[in-house]
Amino acid sequence: MNKIFKIYRPVILLAFVFLMGIQIAIAQKIERIEPPFWWTGMKETSLQLMVYGSKISQSRPSVDYPGLTIREIQRVENPDYLFINLEVAENTRPGMAALQFRFPKGKPLTYSYALKERASGSAERQGFDNGDAIYLLMPDRFSNGNPDNDNMPGMVDRANRNNPDGRHGGDLKGIENHLDYIAGMGFTALWINPVFECNVKTPSYHGYSITDFYRVDPRLGSNDDYKALVDKAHKNGLKVIKDMVFNHFGDGHYWMKNLPMPDWINQWPTFTRSNFRAGTLTDPHAAEADKDKMLKGWFDVMMADLNQENPLVANYLIQNSIWWIEFAGIDGIRMDTYPYSERNFMAEWMRRIHQEYPNFSVVGEVWMNSPQQVAYWQQNYRNGDGFNSYLDHVFDFPLKYAVGEAFMESNGWSTGAAKLYETLSYDFLYEDPQKIIAFADNHDFDRIFNTLGEDVQKLRMALVLIATTRGLPQIYYGTEILMTGWENQGHGYIRQDFPGGWPNDSVNAFNGNGLSEQQAETQAFVKHLMHWRRKSDAVIHGKLKHYIPEEGVYVYFRYTDEQSVMVVINNNKESRSFRTERFAESLEGYSTGTDVLSRTYFDQLRIIHVPAMTARIIELQK
Ligand code: CA
Repeated sequence: MNKIFKIYRPVILLAFVFLMGIQIAIAQKIERIEPPFWWTGMKETSLQLMVYGSKISQSRPSVDYPGLTIREIQRVENPDYLFINLEVAENTRPGMAALQFRFPKGKPLTYSYALKERASGSAERQGFDNGDAIYLLMPDRFSNGNPDNDNMPGMVDRANRNNPDGRHGGDLKGIENHLDYIAGMGFTALWINPVFECNVKTPSYHGYSITDFYRVDPRLGSNDDYKALVDKAHKNGLKVIKDMVFNHFGDGHYWMKNLPMPDWINQWPTFTRSNFRAGTLTDPHAAEADKDKMLKGWFDVMMADLNQENPLVANYLIQNSIWWIEFAGIDGIRMDTYPYSERNFMAEWMRRIHQEYPNFSVVGEVWMNSPQQVAYWQQNYRNGDGFNSYLDHVFDFPLKYAVGEAFMESNGWSTGAAKLYETLSYDFLYEDPQKIIAFADNHDFDRIFNTLGEDVQKLRMALVLIATTRGLPQIYYGTEILMTGWENQGHGYIRQDFPGGWPNDSVNAFNGNGLSEQQAETQAFVKHLMHWRRKSDAVIHGKLKHYIPEEGVYVYFRYTDEQSVMVVINNNKESRSFRTERFAESLEGYSTGTDVLSRTYFDQLRIIHVPAMTARIIELQK
């Protein structure tokens, strides 16, 4: 070996010098700066840039732009990352700021960083409220508006519409093409499942294996397409709620090939799954080991668990949310797996969002069975440990379960209609029961039509309850045309393609072609219900008063000082006529009414008749 080394020494030395040269050359490339641009005039004047490039930490960054100063440079374990803490002074003008990176050797690198002007009224945007009704859809499964993007270069899983868990080609263009349908159905807000790039081999059509927090998946469209979709939705009277995930991300992310720091993610000696017991986080008796596994265990093999206790991770995620709000003009965020992220970080996230956008809305997925467990996570909850999430909205998972069961049971002390009554009686736990989203199913559950035994009457009762109880309703796409699917068949079955969304579909639910009579009637029912709801001041602004169900009939009122709506749900296989004396405190001053669903007129309110398995929404008249 020595002899060979002696003979070839000049060659080896030359090769070494050459390789060093390459290394310097590699160092002089910035792969990414995130956030990719920012804005002037934000309330928060600090901005943290994550700079990614080979050996970038060897550089000395500087900036030459009026109003922009570097406060601190943070180097981390991995030399390919550098964090720059900037101060954007209050009156800084929009423009291109020159960031310069000087290396010990070689030429300095210059990067033009855009500071944009904020859209007028950006900070004053209004989130969603009780006047809204949310339509939830999964972009890969709603409509394929652009077959040319079904497969894209560099994206590893290929479209396959025959595979329930494959990509089916739905996209942003498809949603855009059918905004008139969604608005026409009476909905006012659109919750779109995640649209971030998910470039992983395992099924990722659902959008929850994010591989780039700053990029829309090219199979759905571009970032600009997403922004255009939001603009067009607004023109159609639809707010847009963006689905976000902070707990985990997909293993195809560049971080997983080259982590910024070992504690960027929660790591375990061997793969460790979360125990999914969010109850441990509020349980005063819970073991630390169980809480740790809940928070730091991975969601799935290909979904790494982000460590939000690392302040750099925390700041990255907070800025990412603000970037999307400002860039795309969204109205709300739905946060996935809400309790799975570190709670104090999540509270700080909310504080930062509301600092920039005081009226912006966020709803957290607190997937828990009992109201006690859900209520803990809503803002200002009077809990013993002093924690405040500042989270404004939560989904009503307990009511979702109650709806699925109540209409399938016989009526008893706490079964059947009484289950709905009892579940809502727990509202004393919530800081604000009006800031709860009622729903019957979503992309993670059996389709509500299946849960209710494919009984259209039961589905209608469920929809009436969701649309008229306190808070605001969310309906899952396809419910209006009786789409079916059991969750245990596989998630692909509860997220099937919306008929008419693909060229040559034999059924087209957008124009009604090929729908069965039952489907068309249900679609018309939902449309009528949602259009009526958006004009009902009593439902939007009113209080709720409900009465103990008797003989399986649940009666409640939504009322303001001026208006009252009486909802009657008859959970019986027989019709019921009942006297109304016991509702006197709600009926006082009202003498007649009209059922907005059947258009039945009641010339008196002393005795009310309800057909079997039917709900009435009676607008009361004085
Ligand atoms: Ca497509």
